[in-house]
Amino acid sequence: MATISLENVRKIYAGGVEAVKGVSMDIADGEFIVLVGPSGCGKSTLLRMIAGLEEISAGDIRIGDRVVNRVDPADRDIAMVFQNYALYPHMSVYNNLAYGLRNRGVPRDEIDRRVKEAARILEIGAFLERKPKALSGGQRQRVAMGRAIVREPAAFLFDEPLSNLDAKLRVQMRVEIKRLQKSLGTTSVYVTHDQLEAMTLADRLVVLNGGAIEQIGDPIAVYEQP
Ligand code: ADP
Ligand code: ADP
Repeated sequence: MATISLENVRKIYAGGVEAVKGVSMDIADGEFIVLVGPSGCGKSTLLRMIAGLEEISAGDIRIGDRVVNRVDPADRDIAMVFQNYALYPHMSVYNNLAYGLRNRGVPRDEIDRRVKEAARILEIGAFLERKPKALSGGQRQRVAMGRAIVREPAAFLFDEPLSNLDAKLRVQMRVEIKRLQKSLGTTSVYVTHDQLEAMTLADRLVVLNGGAIEQIGDPIAVYEQP
C-alpha cells in the first residue's frame, strides 16, 4: 500500500488544450478516492497521468516515495482496471491471471498462490479453466479485476470499470468492489459518472471542473451542498 501525492500537476495536450490545471492533493495509505465531474473535466487524463500512461506537463506525482514520472513503466507498482476488460480471448481464466506475473518472472508457486487467492476473493474459482467467451459480463469483469489484484500493487486505479455493464450487474459489482476495498485496503483512485458508485465507495470525493479541483471531501457533505 502507498500514499499518492499530486503536486501542482498539469497537462497541456499537443493541440494546446489545458486538460489539468495545477491539481494538488494527498491521498492517504489505504484511502479510496473517487473522481467525479462533467465530461471533459480531466478525470481520465489525471488518472492516466497517475498510471504513467500519459506524460505530465508540469508538477509531480509520487506513489510512496517514488516520483511516478521518473519511474520506468514496468516498475510502477500500480494496477489499472478499465471498462473494456481486455482479457486474452485464447487463454483460460487461470492463464489470464497468471500471464503478467509469468512475464515478470514471478515463481510458479507464488503465481499459483496469488491466482488462487484472487479467485477465492472474487469467487471465480469454478471458472479457472474456462475461456473468457464462456463467461458472463460480470464474471469477465471479475477476471479483469483479478488481473489487477494478483499483481498485489501498491495502488489500484479504476477508469469507469462498471460503465459497460447493465444496471443490475453494476449494482452487484459496486457492492463487490466495496467488499474488496474492505478486505484488501489498497489505496485506490476511482473515476466514475455514477453518483451511487461514488457515494458507496468514496472515503473522499473529488469533484473536478475545467481541469481543477472544485470540491473535495466526505461524499455525503459534497453531494448535500447546494
Ligand atoms: P474526462 O475524463 O473528465 O471526460 P478527459 O481527461 O478525457 O476528461 O479530457 C479533458 C480534456 O482534454 C478535454 O477537453 C478533452 O477533449 C481533452 N483531451 C483528452 N485527451 C486528449 C488528447 N489525447 N489530445 C488532446 N486533447 C485531449
Ligand atoms: P499484464 O498481463 O499484467 O498486463 P504485461 O506484462 O502485459 O502485464 O504488462 C505490460 C506493461 O503494461 C508493463 O509495463 C506493466 O507495467 C503495464 N501494465 C500491465 N497491466 C497494467 C495495469 N493493469 N495497470 C497499469 N499498468 C499495467
